[in-house]
Amino acid sequence: MSTKMQQIRPAWLEIDLDQLRQNFALIQAEKPAHLKLLFVVKDNAYGHGAIEVARIASEAGIAYLGTVTVDEAVALRNAGIQTPVFVMAERTIEELQVCLDLDLTCCINDLDTAAAYAKLAKKAGKRPKVHVEVDTGMSRYGVRWKAAADYIASLQKMTELELEGLLSHFAMSDELDKSYAHLQLARFQEVLDELAKRGIDIPIKHMCNSGGYLDLPQAHFDMVRTGTLPLGVYPSRVCRRIEGTAPIMTLKTRIAALQQIEAGDKVGYGMRYTASSPRTIAVLPLGYGDGYPRIRNAGEVLIHGKRAPIVGGNAMDAMMVDASDIQGVSQWDEVVLLGRQGDEEITVRDLADLKGSVTYDIINGWRSRIPRIYLDKEDERR
Ligand SMILES: *Cc1c(COP(=O)(O)O)cnc(C)c1O
Repeated sequence: MSTKMQQIRPAWLEIDLDQLRQNFALIQAEKPAHLKLLFVVKDNAYGHGAIEVARIASEAGIAYLGTVTVDEAVALRNAGIQTPVFVMAERTIEELQVCLDLDLTCCINDLDTAAAYAKLAKKAGKRPKVHVEVDTGMSRYGVRWKAAADYIASLQKMTELELEGLLSHFAMSDELDKSYAHLQLARFQEVLDELAKRGIDIPIKHMCNSGGYLDLPQAHFDMVRTGTLPLGVYPSRVCRRIEGTAPIMTLKTRIAALQQIEAGDKVGYGMRYTASSPRTIAVLPLGYGDGYPRIRNAGEVLIHGKRAPIVGGNAMDAMMVDASDIQGVSQWDEVVLLGRQGDEEITVRDLADLKGSVTYDIINGWRSRIPRIYLDKEDERR
């Protein structure tokens, strides 16, 4: 699993597993000792490759891997990854059977589902771990905070199930205005106080995503669910930073063709760019069909460590940049579209701003047509 992986197409994503190890080491070093880490690897670990990054995370000593679909969890197990897996959201009865068979921890948020799962568990002679999600204001999954204590008290009587955890999820944790997060936290705490009154203690309580982990230490409880942070990508501009962490994803290509054009010439579909003087146009063999934002006359790429502006409208399979200021530019020179080259960097946030979206949407937006290449110096030394 390294640079030796086969790659033919001159457009690729590099995933730096050594930097991922470093990010985990930095997070582990600064977090409170008791705090468990759940690493969310949903949607192919936000486009990075779930299996590859889950292996590194498991070596880094995390408590749980998190997925949203059962298929994602099955893929981890099929790859031989034995780290406990927590499946978020709601399950069908067919999915519950798979959770039971593979010892996946899932969320059980209503008594009918709980009864069905208890029946399956009894039949299999197993006592599966379950968590309860409390809806404290996201209005997505979970039992409403006001009804949570009664529900949990009933669930606890179903001894076929092991009630291991209680969670909630923030609607906004990474912006400066934390007022709604504080309201959600207060509601969660209300549930915990009510449970304490009834003598119910649930071992693993968790509420934070990356933004919450960084900025709401009072909401850490026993475990935090971080997806984007270990990948070196921050959920917002304003949340706290951990010194030394860095993104592990770089998007690269090579110049497929060079065109010398004259004043008045047009570039690309829709004639969106007109040259005002003779220009050197570099053609890059990737486009919005690979997940690059569909933009025109905006954005930049890095060639020879210098910025070159994107000109015209980018196509499904190609985009053009003005390389007139790049000395000695040649066909098949390496180009960086996301990440560092020399002293320059194009960040995930730069691309998110171009697309008018969030950073998450950029990193997991690259299509499967782009090969992923894994850099792993430590693995090569073994
Ligand atoms: C995706 C997700 C997370 C991880 O969020 P990040 O902002 O990437 O850390 C945590 N919890 C739940 C319920 C999620 O859906």
